[in-house]
Amino acid sequence: MKVKRNSRRASKTTGDIEVSKKNTTSYARLRKEIYEEWKKRWNYTTHFCRSACKIALAILNGWRKRARKGESKEKPVAKKLFMQLDPELYKFYGDKIRISVKPRQFIFIDLKFGEYQKRFIETWKEGKLKVGESTINEKKIVIPFKKEVDMSNPKDWIAIDVNESNVTAVSSNPHILRIDTKELRTIHTAYFNVVREIQKLSKEHPRIAERLMGKYSGRRRRKAMDACHKIANEVVKFAKEHNMGIVMEDLKFIRKCINRSRTLNRRLHSWNFRKLQFYVEYKAKMNGIPVVYVNPKKTSSLCPVCGGRLAANGHRLLKCEWGYVNDRDIITCLNLLRMRGVSVAPESLLMTAREERIMIKY
Ligand SMILES: [Zn+2]
Repeated sequence: MKVKRNSRRASKTTGDIEVSKKNTTSYARLRKEIYEEWKKRWNYTTHFCRSACKIALAILNGWRKRARKGESKEKPVAKKLFMQLDPELYKFYGDKIRISVKPRQFIFIDLKFGEYQKRFIETWKEGKLKVGESTINEKKIVIPFKKEVDMSNPKDWIAIDVNESNVTAVSSNPHILRIDTKELRTIHTAYFNVVREIQKLSKEHPRIAERLMGKYSGRRRRKAMDACHKIANEVVKFAKEHNMGIVMEDLKFIRKCINRSRTLNRRLHSWNFRKLQFYVEYKAKMNGIPVVYVNPKKTSSLCPVCGGRLAANGHRLLKCEWGYVNDRDIITCLNLLRMRGVSVAPESLLMTAREERIMIKY
């Protein structure tokens, strides 16, 4: 968060002791080299020396890396003065901060902030956020808010199945989320046809063909990735709303069976599946949602109620010998939950695709 401050004092601790001449690369050496002089000049709490050394080293080492690659020649000079305060050095009060300068000596700085920042401060007051290492320059104070999330124990779990025409998510609590992915397939097939035309061209005009190919495959990839992002966002939003962890099929096992088949549909399915799974996982982690994987073996051939074999029963439906009938994607999800050892509410077992919650367009 950026907070305007109304005082300009206390920003002089990142000083101008030159360290680049000595080729220092370690924090300990740098601190040893400058500490005496630093203490003579400023006599602030030693924490400030530590912070100044850390910043100076980060700048220096970044520069050395670039210099080795030949990207940067001139030695770095700290033009804009700023300092970093770890939580030991300052105390946040919501509308002001208190900075420790020396033992038992403080500077108070009143904070100016807008509506956006205010929301974070209110949440902080409720004890739901913590403040992290703050940065101060001559114009503003940046105070990061941290949220601690429990990634270990969600109340419920949601299993996700990706197939050629949709993404189905079934939760243990019970909810179904179904996202139509036919358009994702259309993106692929449309471009697949274009690519075939370009290939025909390549014998006579190899250069033009190459350029076109680059253009169209890039466009296809971007469109498909965009669609995958949107689908993953929906899945993660759904899991977050219901405080659920995510169960997915382990790709190690999927790879074996998919790569053997050569049809376009299967190949695209595997492409989409991997991308989607990747996006779902990282978006979930950003939101503090745990993700686990299970071996998908037999998830679509056994009954989630009795464990017996399932037989086809009309379009996309499966039925067991005791009469349990459900959509095959939902059955896959239910089995994933069971294999993960998640206790599934009886209502979840009875949910059908007809009760699906949302469809998104992209
Ligand atoms: Zn059964």
